[in-house]
Order: sequence, then C-alpha cells, then structure tokens
Amino acid sequence: MNDDVLIIGGGIGGLTLALELHEAGIPCRLFEAAPEIKAIGVGINILPHAQRELTRLGLEPALAALAVETKEAAFYNRFGQHIYSEPLGRAAGYAWPQFSIHRADLQAVLIGAVVARLGSDRVHLGWRCTGVAGDATGATARFVDAAGHPLDDRRGSVAIACDGVNSVIRKQFHPHEAEPRYSGVTMWRGVTKMQPVLSGATFVRAGWLNPGKLVMYPIRNAIDAEGNQLMNWLAENETPQRVARDWTRAGRLEDFIAPYLDWQWDWIDVPEMFRRAETILEYPMVDQDPLDRWTFGRVTLLGDAAHPMVPRGSNGAGQSILDAKVLVEVLRAHTDWAEALVAYEAQRLPATSNVVLTNRVNPPDAILRVVYERTGDRPFERIDDVVSHDELVAITDAYKKVAGYDPASLAVVS
Ligand SMILES: Cc1cc2nc3c(=O)[nH]c(=O)nc-3n(C[C@H](O)[C@H](O)[C@H](O)COP(=O)(O)OP(=O)(O)OC[C@H]3O[C@@H](n4cnc5c(N)ncnc54)[C@H](O)[C@@H]3O)c2cc1C
Repeated sequence: MNDDVLIIGGGIGGLTLALELHEAGIPCRLFEAAPEIKAIGVGINILPHAQRELTRLGLEPALAALAVETKEAAFYNRFGQHIYSEPLGRAAGYAWPQFSIHRADLQAVLIGAVVARLGSDRVHLGWRCTGVAGDATGATARFVDAAGHPLDDRRGSVAIACDGVNSVIRKQFHPHEAEPRYSGVTMWRGVTKMQPVLSGATFVRAGWLNPGKLVMYPIRNAIDAEGNQLMNWLAENETPQRVARDWTRAGRLEDFIAPYLDWQWDWIDVPEMFRRAETILEYPMVDQDPLDRWTFGRVTLLGDAAHPMVPRGSNGAGQSILDAKVLVEVLRAHTDWAEALVAYEAQRLPATSNVVLTNRVNPPDAILRVVYERTGDRPFERIDDVVSHDELVAITDAYKKVAGYDPASLAVVS
C-alpha cells in the first residue's frame, strides 16, 4: 500500500506541511489545483509564533532577504492623532522576527524549498481534488485536471485538506454548513511604490470602520534606486456585502476612497497612496462559525479549510503554519494515524476557534474602536483622558495570548 501523506492544496498551509513532513522523514505528495504557482494576493504578516516554525525549517534567511522586518505597531485616529505604539518582533524581545511580506514572496520561498528538498515529482500542479474517501487502512483522493478531465485516483496513508477558504473537502464532510458569515465590512487591498514612512518598518492602523479604517505596512525594501518600498495597504469600510470571497477579485478606487479624502497628515497622504496603487483587490470580511469536527477517519482539515477567519489579527497564514507543526508532531507520536488525526483536532480545533471568535470582536485593532466610541469620533485633547496606557497594553496583550504569541507562551524569548 502507498504510505504517502496526501496534501490537498499548495497554499501556505499545504507547503509548510510538506516541509514539516519531509523534516520528520514522512513521505508525502502535494496536489495543487492551479496549473502553476503564480504571484497573487498582496501582503501578509508572519508573527513570531509562526516565524519560530519557519526558522526551525531553515527558511529565515530566504524570508529575511525578501521581507521587511517589522519593528513597531502604531495606532492613529482618523484625524491623524497618535494613540499608541508598541515594539514588534525582535524589537519587542522575541527571539524571532515579525516579517511583513508579499504573499507571493512567501509562497515562492515555500515552494522553492519544497521542490529543492522533496523533488519536483512530489508536487503535482493542475490536480484539482474533487473528493476524498477514507477507510481502515488509508485514504483515496479523486482529481480532475484544469480542463475538468478525470485524473487517476491517488491513495495514501492519510489525506490532509489544505484547500483554503472554499475547501471542497470541508464541504464534503459538512454539506449543510451555513453560508460564510459577513462581518459588514469590505476590504480593499493594494500595493503602492513609495518612500518609507515613520520608522520604515511600522505596521500602522488608523481610523475605524465607519467611515473607514486604514491598515498599512511595507512588504519590500529598496525596490529601486530611489530607495522606495512596496507599501501594502488595506481600506476597510462598513458596507453591504458586495462580492463573494475570491482573493483575486479586482477592486475600484471609486468604491472606497471617499472616507479618506482628507487623510493628509504630515507623514502620509493617504488618498494619494491609494491613487498610485499598482494593484487593488476587493475582498469581503467573512468567516465561518467554528466547526465541531475536522477529522473523519484518515482525513482531516488544515489552515483556512479548517478555520476560515476574518483577516484582522494577521493570523490566517500563521495559524495554518502552527496546524502543520502540530499535525506532524502527532503523526510522529502515534502509530495509529487515525488516532493521530483525532489528537491533532483535539489540540488545534479549540485553539483556532478561539482565534476565529476573537477576530470577530477583539482583534488588536479594538484599540481603535475604544477610542472611536469614547471620543464620539472626534479629535481628542490628550489620549490619556480617553484611554489609559495600561488599558491599551491590556487590549493588545489579550490578543497575543489568544493567538499564541504572547512572550510567555513562546518558550524562548531573548
Ligand atoms: C490567491 C490567494 C491570495 C491570497 N491573498 C492574501 C493576501 O493578500 N493577504 C492575506 O492575508 N491572505 C491572503 N490569502 C490567504 C492566506 O494565504 C491564507 O489565509 C493562509 O495562508 C492560509 O493558508 P491555507 O494554505 O490554508 O490556504 P491558501 O493559502 O488559501 O491555499 C489553498 C490552496 O489550495 C488550492 N486549492 C483550492 N482548492 C483545491 C482543490 N480542490 N484541489 C487542490 N488544490 C486546491 C488553492 O489553489 C490554494 O493554492 C490568499 C489566498 C489565496 C489562495
């Protein structure tokens, strides 16, 4: 019998899983629906808890060469008044950096490592999974090619569904699941070539969802002779749901720019940054209620397929990396892999459900909501009259605990 682990989906979760399995000496094959791995998406953050795993996998130098090592978080209201700043990553004392990176760069580092370490014959592009079946001794996955023609079934020891937010395998096991839950907010994401602002490595959040919230952070350094960076930004506006969840859908400036027209502060001209964008994508802030079950015999879910979350705490990619780490730990610890998949679910389902639910109400940007509500969305005289420093620290520290990157949860802090 074939004892390969079948990995369905070559996104960040699936590729990390392939590297973790290889490291553990467990054979695997990865099946990705796309005929080629293309540069799509915009920026994402890798927080220290996820970077710890990527460092252990030997990927830190390659990531450091492409990413921006983010040093601080800064919060402002929509009038440009500073609310709060705190150090991030190594600057905050962690033993691992926080990287802000173009999703395509992260994907390129991961796929490059997978091909170099496992061999290209272990990566099957253009294989779209249509369903899986587990039995007492293994799992069988069915596939079609890019044109929809059937390919050979593939058999393995277990099948791991890493097929993202629109997972067909999640749908197979949870056919009556409710539609994705819309949070009432649409985000427009883009990248703009521009000169560094603030520290040159600052993760900025400003304003609040009505009329509009801005997130921005640089994701590539020194991209030309003028020393420009590639700035990743998100505009989040309360709006009726406009579109289905498709990471590649193009967005239009005129649909979201209005609330930001007077956001011209001494260090940034926000509407100008939007106007000069190279790419604009539109995505609804949706998630799904946590499932009660991921594991069905020799099949389980991982990453966005298991726990789609609103992208508000920089945790989508990170939680999929942590899933991969725990999954391989339990496979190594159990001789019966059906039991291992149950043990994986027992660890990761409650932990990630907590992140999904916290992202709905109290992600790190809850700081902005507190200031918005207490000031009635007006400028303040002194921030200390609105909210104390201790309260601000408590809000961000609480999220770090939920997501698993508070310094105490990470074994090694420098
Ligand atoms: C195109 C794209 C762009 C994104 N852009 C951003 C972004 O800009 N910022 C951000 O924060 N997050 C973005 N994300 C989401 C982020 O990458 C994920 O939240 C996170 O990395 C979780 O990883 P994952 O591996 O679970 O899912 P994903 O990274 O979404 O990977 C899922 C993979 O499975 C493949 N797949 C889907 N169905 C099948 C199937 N039936 N058979 C085989 N393969 C299948 C997909 O093609 C994809 O490669 C994007 C995701 C995608 C797919």
